[in-house]
This record gives sequence, C-alpha cells and structure tokens, in this order.
Amino acid sequence: MKLNLILHAAFWSAAFVLPVAAESESLHCARGSALFAAADSPDYRKYAPSREIDILHLTLDVTPDFKARTISGKAVLRFKPIARPLDELKLDGVALRVRTVTATEKILGWQATDKQVIVTFDKPIPPDREASVTIDYSAEPKQGVYFRTPEMGYKPEDTHLWTQGEPLEARHWFPGFDAPNEKFTSEIICRVPEGMTVLANGRRMGEEKDTSTGLVAVRWLQDKPHVNYLIAPVAGYVKGIEDRHRDVPLAFYTPASQIAEAKNSFKETREIMEFFEKEIGVPFPWAKYYQVVVDDFTWGGMENTSLTVLTDRTLHRDESEQLGSSRGLVAHEMAHQWFGDFVTCKDWSHLWLNEGFATYYDHLYEGHKEGRDELLYGMYQSAKGFINVPNDTNAIVRRDFNNPEEQFGFHAYPKGAWVLHMLRSELGDELFRRCVKTYLERHAFGVATTDDFSKVFEELSGRSFDQFFDQYVYHAHHPEMGVTYSWDERAKLAKLSIAQNQRLSDDVLLFSVPLTVRFQGKSGRVDRQVRVKEKAEDFYFPLPEAPEVVRLDPELALLARISFAPPTPMLFKQLADKKDMIGRLVAVEQLSGKKEALEKLKETLNNDAYWGVRSATSRAIRAVGTEDALQALVTSVKQPDARVRRQVVLDIAGFYRETSRDALLKLARDDKNPEIRSTAIGVLGAHHTPEVRDELLKFLRSDSYRASMADGALTAIRAQDDAGFIAPLLETLREKEANWPTPVFVRGLETLAWLARSEEKKESAREFLVARVNSAKNRVQRAALAGLGTLGDPKAIGVLEQFASLPKENPERDVAEKSLVALRDAKKPGAELGSIRGDLLKLQRENQELRKEFDDLKKKLEAAGKTATEKPTAKATKR
Ligand SMILES: [Zn+2]
Repeated sequence: MKLNLILHAAFWSAAFVLPVAAESESLHCARGSALFAAADSPDYRKYAPSREIDILHLTLDVTPDFKARTISGKAVLRFKPIARPLDELKLDGVALRVRTVTATEKILGWQATDKQVIVTFDKPIPPDREASVTIDYSAEPKQGVYFRTPEMGYKPEDTHLWTQGEPLEARHWFPGFDAPNEKFTSEIICRVPEGMTVLANGRRMGEEKDTSTGLVAVRWLQDKPHVNYLIAPVAGYVKGIEDRHRDVPLAFYTPASQIAEAKNSFKETREIMEFFEKEIGVPFPWAKYYQVVVDDFTWGGMENTSLTVLTDRTLHRDESEQLGSSRGLVAHEMAHQWFGDFVTCKDWSHLWLNEGFATYYDHLYEGHKEGRDELLYGMYQSAKGFINVPNDTNAIVRRDFNNPEEQFGFHAYPKGAWVLHMLRSELGDELFRRCVKTYLERHAFGVATTDDFSKVFEELSGRSFDQFFDQYVYHAHHPEMGVTYSWDERAKLAKLSIAQNQRLSDDVLLFSVPLTVRFQGKSGRVDRQVRVKEKAEDFYFPLPEAPEVVRLDPELALLARISFAPPTPMLFKQLADKKDMIGRLVAVEQLSGKKEALEKLKETLNNDAYWGVRSATSRAIRAVGTEDALQALVTSVKQPDARVRRQVVLDIAGFYRETSRDALLKLARDDKNPEIRSTAIGVLGAHHTPEVRDELLKFLRSDSYRASMADGALTAIRAQDDAGFIAPLLETLREKEANWPTPVFVRGLETLAWLARSEEKKESAREFLVARVNSAKNRVQRAALAGLGTLGDPKAIGVLEQFASLPKENPERDVAEKSLVALRDAKKPGAELGSIRGDLLKLQRENQELRKEFDDLKKKLEAAGKTATEKPTAKATKR
C-alpha cells in the first residue's frame, strides 16, 4: 500500500508522506481475537497467529445498499483442519450481524461477538476432512467498505463503493482468517443495480439478472491463492479504458465523470509491466491488471491482487507537467503484485518484504526510464527523509508494535528499499536478479520471512549476510560517520579519520561496512575500498599527487549518514564534474548559504544537466539570503522542468521583499502550470497588500481543476490571519461545497475556524461548522469538530460533548475531546494553556504589525530615493 501523497510536503521524499487523517486511523488498536490475539493486542510482541485450519476457498456473495450504506452478505468458507480435530471454528469479524450459520458438519451452536464469529461443531472435524461453513450476515461497516453516494455529498453519476483490507479492515465486512499467513482462492458475487460496474480480483465469470430483485449479480473468481487482506470488490458507476500487455488485459477505471483524466495516469502501465517482467524474471502472476481510482481513498494506493485501488488525487491534466505524474504510484502498486501479493510477508513484522520492494522497484523503473541518475537521486532523496532522525531505536523487523499500521513507516518503505539497494550494489545486477527471482519462485503464492529472503542470497552468492541483516534489519539505525581529511605532501599520503557517532545500545550496533573512497586528481582517479568497523579509525592512502576531489561512497551504495566537509576549492571541482551527478548534488548542499559560491550556484541552477541538482541549487541559493541571491532566483525562474520551477517559487518566497512578492504575483498569474500557480499563490500569505488581498480573493473564488487555485489561496489566507477574509470565505465555502474535492473543503473549514478564532463575534463561523459535524464525509465531519476547538466559542461545548460521549471506538470522540480541552482551557483565563495561547496570538499580531511597519519604512526609503516625477508605490493598507 502506498501512503497518501501530499503534494506540497517533502517528508521522506517527494513520494512519501504521512497518511492524511485516514478514515480508518486509530481504529485498529486492541482488536483481539483468538486467532489473531498475539498479533494485534498491545500487550505482547506480535507474531503470526496459529492456523488450525487450511482455508481452501472463500465465496462472498454481497449485496450493497447504497442508500442505507450497509451490506448484506453470505460467506462460504471451505477448509480442512490441519493437524488436530477441530471442534470450534473462530473467525475474525467485527460487529457483523449474523443471521444464520450452517455447515456441512453438524453444528452444536454458534455465536457472534463484537470481534468474532464462533462456530461449535457437534463432533470434532478430523484433520484433512474437507468441510464448509456458510455465514449469512449483514453489516454497517465503519471500515473495510466505503460508500461514495449522493447522500454523502458525492456526485450522483459517480456513486460507488470501494473496499480496503490491509492491514485489519477486511474483518469489518466479512468473516474470515484476517492475517497474512494463510492463502486461499476466492470468488466474489456482488449484486448491484443495472448500469453499475463491478470489479474484483481475478477473472470475470459473467453476470446474471435476478428477476426477483432486479439486481445484477456479477461474479469474479480469483483462482490463484491470495491473502484475506487483498480481497477487494469495487462497485458503482465507473468507466474504464483498456490496453493489453502480452495476454494480460490492462484497464484503468475512474468514477464515471472523471474518465477524461484516466489516460494520463494509465499511459505508462504497459511499459512498467514490461520492465518489471524483465527485471524480476517472473511473468506477471495474475489474470489481469486493473487499476481503479476512487473518491477520497484513505491511502495513496492499495495493491489488491489484479485490482489496484488508487487515490483520486493522482488524476491530473497535461498542464501539470512532471508535478502531476502518476508514475511512482502506478509502479509502486504494480510491483506489489509480485512483492506482497504473489509472495506475502508472513506477518506484519516483515512488512518491508512488501513495502521495501515496492519502493525499490519504483526507483528501478525510474532509473530504467530516465537513466541511472534518476535511480540514484531517488535513493539519495529517500535516505534524506529518514537519515537525520536521531537515535532511532526501531529495527526494520520488530515485534513490539501496538498496531500493524505503525509498521507502515519509513523503516518498511525507504529503509527497506535501501537494504535491497545495498544488496544489489554489493552483488551486481545480475546476481541480485537471480536471487530475487529464486526467492519469488521458491515462495510462489506463499508467504515469506526475512530469513527466507536472506537464505536465498546466501545460497546463491556463497556469502554470509548474517552481519549485514543483523545490523541493518534486525537492529536499528545506520552508521553516522564523521569524516575528516588531510594531505601530507612530504609523505604523499591522504589521511581520512572516520568515526562512528551513532549512539550505541542494545538496539543500535557499531557497524561494519564497506566504504569506497574515490580520489580524483590531475592524472585520473583512484578508487579504494576500506572497511569501517571501529568507533574511530584513521586510514592512509598513498597517492602520486594531492587529490583535487575526495569522494566518499561515490556510487551511493551505502546507507550511512556521512558528515564530510571538504574545502571549498574541492567542492568547486566536484561541482564541475559532469559525470558525477551525486557528487554535484553533495557539493551544492555543502556550498549552501555560502556567499562566495553564489555565482557558481547561479550558473548551476540554470545549466546543470540534472533537474535534481538544479532543484537543490535553488535551495542552496535561498540559504545565501542576500539581495543578490534573491535576484539570482528571480532571474532563474524560467526553469523548463516544473519540479525545479516550483522549488524556485518556494525559495523566492523565503525572502520577505517586494521583489519577491512581485515575482510571486507574476508567477501566480502567468505560469502555464496550475500547480506552479497554486504554489505561488500559497506562499503569498506573508504579504499584506491590497493587491495580494484582491488576488487571493480572486483565486479563492476561481474554478480550476480539482480546485487547486482555491487550495493555494486558502493556504495564503490562513497565513494572512486577517478577519476581513471571513465573510468572503464563508460565502465561497457555501457556494463550492458540492464541487470542491474533500481535502480542499476541509482546508477551507480549518481556515475559517482559524480566522474567526480571535474575533468577538463567532456565530456565523460556529454555525457553519456545527452544520457539518454530522457530515457523512468523514473527513469533513472531523474537520468541523476540530474546527470548533480552534474557533474557541464556548457555545460549541454542548455539541462537542455529545460527540465526546460516543463509545471509544468512534474516532470522532477523540477529535471532539481535544476540541473540548481547547475550549475549556481558553475559558479559564488563569489556566496555563489559555495564557500561552493568548501570548501566541499577541506575538502573532505583533509580528504582523512589525512586518507592516517594516514594509512601510522600506517603501518610504525607496520613495525618498526616487526622483520627484516618480510616483511612490501604494502604501500598505491598515486593517
Ligand atoms: Zn506499498
């Protein structure tokens, strides 16, 4: 699964970010069952549950009720007891309303608890005897199944439902063995009104009209074994476009009204599959590959076997250039069809076997498509996202998590990818490929652990990887190397002193790793490999002459945080090396903020061959912080690559000057790319002039694809913190509620509450928020509840108290409680929090006033410097 993309934030890398308030978050804790007790109870280390039965096949016959947002279902589970006679079958099933249970064996009785369905047989079923149970039930699922209907505020012509199983959601809509260490074939029969489409795992087996209900029963069969969490129907008014790779049908579906954008997201699918088949060496394992975009998905994407579900945020138009690309998401989810689906991690502690692979193969595809630098840049950026997290004591494989969702973090994703990258760098492409292929074939349609994986590498390479896995996978963190360099001219010796500075503990080891050192001189280059294994050690290298460049880990093959600051002349040489992209990138970052490097940086920003280097250079120039630096950015704004252009926009915004404001306004109005325009609008918040204000209102009210312009305006309006925006914002929110995508509307609610929080009169904002606390759009509901806390109107206490008294499984309760705390603290004038809040508001106001004064002063100075015939620029208005 891929975490949701937040386009403007770079948390781990461009591609990885925190899940946005997922509809499912924080719901999984402490859900235990006998089958899964060890795995999701907070009190114990987590292990795969025991399997008492071998499940052979699951048939799910479901009828969704789109109006009531409920489902009615019949689950038939065919199985054999494994080794012991089975007298009781316990299945995971949360809040299922079971009507009847029947079986091929005589049943003594059955019970449905909040978390389980338990069937007691009259006589124990002997091992290896095939039996089946049929459970007839209905559910109003809070998770697992998500409706998108007109009653909830979605377009009627786009009505649909989607499902999400990983990690523990499937049990909310059907009974089963809800853990990854059991595989079985499955079929889904879904009964929908005529005109709707049903998509599901495997092969479509046909449809049949039920004359008694008028519904159409569409049947899909997954005839290859897969895991419970990958079972997924999607049903509703969706449209699709098709393609084919070999004999594998490919398709891309969206909610009906959004089909025009499908082609952009779909276009590389075939090419990615061709590449993966070649790179992995195992043919695509499933009957077809469909991708379906759904409204307000809780993650970025989910790799259900042969039916990947994607967020609607990936849809984009041509004019968004590289900023809208679906490539990374499409590649990530498709890689899972092998890594995660064909071979699945045995339990959540080995999640990196799913996510590390999907992340790495996405980077490999980038490298294949754009050249090796793109792969290296991807690895470099992904390392940057977590390498500075200090004293991390969690290993990639760990068992002490409370909730499997905690495992979906940087350890499994980018760090997992780095483990693979190090193995590949060490063994070479060909042997690495052979190992991966063998690993997949050996565990085909089965489950695997980290040991299963490392065993293959040891077997095929003849090498021991015990230490490698011990340090990087079973223990936490990475080497933090502090390196100093000196040259002894008399002895012609280069000296490197290398220390390992990570804090050592039971969780974090002293590492033993190979490090390549490259010396580049007039007469060529020399590579030397050393093994870094001590706490501190000096290394000497005899060389014919003093090197002009010293590079550590030049091929980017080692996961380590290397602190090494060569002298500036060396960095300039490094920056000029056209063949060493990573070297240039490192040099730019070392030169960041140095005035004497500005000319060279400006040249790099406009001429470097690689976009990632240009982007980093923009940041390095911003750090210089002088008027010249701003000029260098403003005159470099015509970047052909939109990713660099956006970075330049963000860096121009780092200067609080008129030049900066004018450049941003121009970009906001004129750039051809709506994403760039939206970014430029978003960073205008610091500038309180009538011109900016008018522009923000214009963008707020404007119509644009997925409301990206309005979204940018909301960011800036929040930063302006000016009560004058409340009325126009309210009016716009009322008008656009039905059209804006949920995340934009949510941002609107947050902004409204924020702006109105220090006003005397809060009624209109409060009423608007209160009217949405029962919204069927989960995220809108929570934003409204949170907004009431921000707003600070005690009249909302009554409403919030109702939500705070809900049972603790309701995530709204948490949000309401937090808001209540904020309100009560604000009411107590002497309370510490209240006073801190007051101080903060005061500081913010003072800061704004200072800015305005500064602005005025600057204008006066400028006006004084001009001739009498010139008109002074307009004064900032006071409000
Ligand atoms: Zn994933």
